Amino acid sequence: MSWSLLCVALYLSWCCGAVAATLETRYYDVQLYPEFDMYTAIERLRDVPVARYELLNETPQGPRDIFAGMLDAVYLHACETLDIHMTSFRIRLEVLPDAAAVGQAVERFLGFVRQTPSFYHRDTNTIYISGADLRSGILAHETGHAVINHYFVVPPPEKMQEVLCGYVEYSLMRDSVKE
Ligand SMILES: [Zn+2]
Repeated sequence: MSWSLLCVALYLSWCCGAVAATLETRYYDVQLYPEFDMYTAIERLRDVPVARYELLNETPQGPRDIFAGMLDAVYLHACETLDIHMTSFRIRLEVLPDAAAVGQAVERFLGFVRQTPSFYHRDTNTIYISGADLRSGILAHETGHAVINHYFVVPPPEKMQEVLCGYVEYSLMRDSVKE
């Protein structure tokens, strides 16, 4: 999908009403905080190489479709990079307002304070991510953790996961759409 087509779809959809707080994509069950601005998020994720994945080439009907397509493209990219293919796997994705809110999730699950823009919690298969810091590379990194943790019966050690997920993040940025 070209950026101009995307802009037209955004413009048309702007008049068509509110955005709900939940979204089901092909691979993510998404929870959005109430003030989440989908238009800003789409702008921030515009480097995601959506067109590369033919499954996502349907004409988008509005911002929810565009946003969903971008998320699913990140998932497919992570799987492709890791050479791990799980077509029926789903990930919970909670978009929180900022890194402080993500830090609270860390504290709730891990028992220590750490301010971070994103975090994957294996037991609930949930990515927590700061809407203020939402970037394709961060989402790709955390998606890598989700995929690795559910593919291997015994997940690789944390340091090895960081290397692999760092590579997923790097490779998406390398292949990203540049204008
Ligand atoms: Zn990591």
